[in-house]
Order: sequence, then C-alpha cells, then structure tokens
Amino acid sequence: MSNHSGSYMLNDVLNTLQRYSVFDALGKEKTQAMVIEIIKMSQQYDYNPGEILENMDERLGICHFCLSPADEFHDGICKKCHERLVAKHGYLEK
Ligand SMILES: [Zn+2]
Repeated sequence: MSNHSGSYMLNDVLNTLQRYSVFDALGKEKTQAMVIEIIKMSQQYDYNPGEILENMDERLGICHFCLSPADEFHDGICKKCHERLVAKHGYLEK
C-alpha cells in the first residue's frame, strides 16, 4: 500500500517550490534531474510517483511512469510509455 499522504505532501512541496520560482532559477534540465532524484529517493518509503507529480508531470516534463524527462504526453504519461502500454495491452487501462 502506498504512502498516499506522504506522496501528496511531496506534491505540495513541489508546488511550493514552483510558486517561489525555484524551478525557473534552476532551469528545466536541473529541475527534472532534481525532481526525478527526489521521486526515486521517495520510493524506498513507498511513495507513489503519480501522486507526487499529480498535475505537475506535463508542466515539469517528467513522466511519472518511467521517471524520465519527456516533451510529449498522452493520457498523463509520456508518448513512449503510452505507445508501449497500448502495444502490450491493445488499450490503455485507466
Ligand atoms: Zn514514460
């Protein structure tokens, strides 16, 4: 079972960093690298990447499914993951 409250707390932290223009100061690549590192770190506490990046994944350009930088998104995940899932399942399970 995921640590939902912890995941949403991290989502709040990311939103706060964005509101204070921290991501603008860092630039896109460093922001993506930092956020991906934070999410990978959080997984040892059973946090949920989808919840941490809720409403932020496309804004930051990070796919919560493969935890990689991405420019194109479909149904909330990067184009590569979307294509992979559709190829595997024939459709995208929600
Ligand atoms: Zn992806």
